[in-house]
Amino acid sequence: MIRFEDLIDKVRTATPEADTELLRRAYVFSAYEHKGQVRRSGEPYLVHPLEVADLLADMRLDVVAVAAGLLHDIVEDTPNSIDKIRELFGEEVAHVVEGVTKLSALQFSSSEERQAESFRKMLLAMVDDIRVILVKLADRLHNMRTLQHLPEDRRQRIAQETRDIYAPIANRLGMSKIKNELEELAFRFLEPQAYQALRAEVEAKRKATEGLVEELRLQLVRKLSDAQLPIVSVDGRIKRLWSIYQKLERQKVNLDQVYDFVALRVVTESVKDCYAVLGIIHQTWSPVPGRFKDFIAMPRPNGYQSLHTSVVSARGTPFEIQIRTQDMHRIAEEGIAAHWKYKEGREGAARDEQYFLWLRQLLESQQEVRDPAEFLQNLRIELYPDEVYLFTPKGEVKALPQGATIVDFAYAVHTDVGHRCVGARVNGRMMPLRTRLNNGDIVEILTQPGHRPSRDWLTFVGTSRARNKIKHYIQGEEKTRSVELGKRLFEKEVRRFNIDKALVTDEVLAKLAPDYGAQRADDLYAAIGYGKATARAVLTRLLGQDALNEPPPDGAITSVVKRMLGGGEAKITVRGADDLLVFRARCCNPIRGEKIVGYITRGKGVSVHSVNCPNVVNLLYDPERRMDVEWDKGADAAPYVVRLKIHVADRKGILADISTRIAGINTNIREVEATSDADHRGSIRMTVEIGDVKHLDRVIKALKAIDGVLAVERSSR
Ligand code: MN
Repeated sequence: MIRFEDLIDKVRTATPEADTELLRRAYVFSAYEHKGQVRRSGEPYLVHPLEVADLLADMRLDVVAVAAGLLHDIVEDTPNSIDKIRELFGEEVAHVVEGVTKLSALQFSSSEERQAESFRKMLLAMVDDIRVILVKLADRLHNMRTLQHLPEDRRQRIAQETRDIYAPIANRLGMSKIKNELEELAFRFLEPQAYQALRAEVEAKRKATEGLVEELRLQLVRKLSDAQLPIVSVDGRIKRLWSIYQKLERQKVNLDQVYDFVALRVVTESVKDCYAVLGIIHQTWSPVPGRFKDFIAMPRPNGYQSLHTSVVSARGTPFEIQIRTQDMHRIAEEGIAAHWKYKEGREGAARDEQYFLWLRQLLESQQEVRDPAEFLQNLRIELYPDEVYLFTPKGEVKALPQGATIVDFAYAVHTDVGHRCVGARVNGRMMPLRTRLNNGDIVEILTQPGHRPSRDWLTFVGTSRARNKIKHYIQGEEKTRSVELGKRLFEKEVRRFNIDKALVTDEVLAKLAPDYGAQRADDLYAAIGYGKATARAVLTRLLGQDALNEPPPDGAITSVVKRMLGGGEAKITVRGADDLLVFRARCCNPIRGEKIVGYITRGKGVSVHSVNCPNVVNLLYDPERRMDVEWDKGADAAPYVVRLKIHVADRKGILADISTRIAGINTNIREVEATSDADHRGSIRMTVEIGDVKHLDRVIKALKAIDGVLAVERSSR
């Protein structure tokens, strides 16, 4: 067990001016409050906060962070409140402790919801103070190191969460040392058999290859000293089990076929020396094509810098070499923790900003996401490390997850650019929106004012940012329509039963809204407009069955539908409703006089189909959403445009006969197109203007009477 005095020494070594009195008070308080508590391992509970504090001291963090480490479980596991911590240890310590404290289980209906909201809270607190996540990572690391003491189900859950969320967060913050250990431990607990088998195999192989690694290392040291390059260190190592395992899985091979689990690392004094070392390496061994990566010129978004190359030894063994300066090495291992000390206006502040860019974007785009499962899923996607680097025409770099499309890129530039995006030039060539982008692509987004996102985009976008922006836009649009429609349907029902309007004001409805999972009257209207609730059911609930006993005769109130979508010229009356959002369905394009039926769509209004439309059978599975509609009798009959397909024998003059006959029954022809097929058959496509269904029947009858006409069909548009 760590001694508290050793911890104090460690903090003093890193920060001589540290206020160790604060630490001493935190230690005494924690020891007192956790007294009598025992961990699953049988150790006193205090061991855990002490170990966490020690990890934070190893990161050379300040006393606030280390004190927060000592106190991090106080609120969750003892009767003390966060106010007590604030009172005794100040605002900063309290902020960090609060950030790492899980929300109380009592507030949530599911553990998933609690988990999602706890993450959201932690990420928000982390934006203000990076120490929140550093304490949480130290806490998680110690819990993972002692995970074997927990029961199997909790072990699995914690290890999975570590792999999905905490290891990627550590990676995002450039803390590869912690990330690596978290990943190895998650591997050990999530795939125990595979882990143990691989460990034994690698151990056996390591003995056989130890000589080889050392030989390669010495060979390189010799070459570098011949070239008189000042080198800090050259290390040889075996790669981590988790990364070997992933490689075996990906390439479907066994360990004997994988040789590059050996890696060398060269640490130099300057950037210039890094490139000089690279040159010497490539002269000594043959580089493997496509494996050289310059993360010095183009650092990873988490700040990581290094040169990577793979070469083949004289004996034919491929191995990897990383080359970096001392500073780069420290940042590669410790990431943001290495920077943290320089905070507050000094060197490194700008990079802190960069570390946080992804976090800010994530939180911004997830603000609207209320579904906990979706929030957690999005968090996993955002943390996924494989990225492509893309450029704007001005040379600005955007890092997006692998598989990102033009639409994702557009949303990464700006929400409005995303909404109005119609296409893009990728490396100068016009490409469709769903195009997947590759590393290094130069992407110029083309926009059009007034263009709007399409639901179809959701089928191919790869970032949660784009997905949420598109969904949000579409939902907003649909909600507006549904509120409008629901309101009309409700008012119609109120008029039908002669209900006093004072009984059904928005205020009254708002009170009823929670019964329907809604908050305001508008939400309730939306529910009616979406077909989730009927106006009738809402009224019954509000006024009782008795108020609705005597419906007036049907059709007492009718009026003209003024606004039509999709047809322009047609008029349909919806019983009792005024100016509803009604449109003729494109599939059957019904015309006046035909038997029709309305169907409340989700978000688009009422679509009107012919009762014979094949889609009707499928659409009307939900009778709640069906509504009665009829053609308006009084209005001026503007013509409908109907397309006909006439099958004919290929006879001379038939087209002329058809035209004459149709003109004879007062019908305008808009377009005619004739084609002839093989074996003396032909077809004529004709677009005519029709007044109503009787008119159409006359036209079809007349056509069928013409000599040489074999059949007449009405075609959809
Ligand atoms: Mn803890």
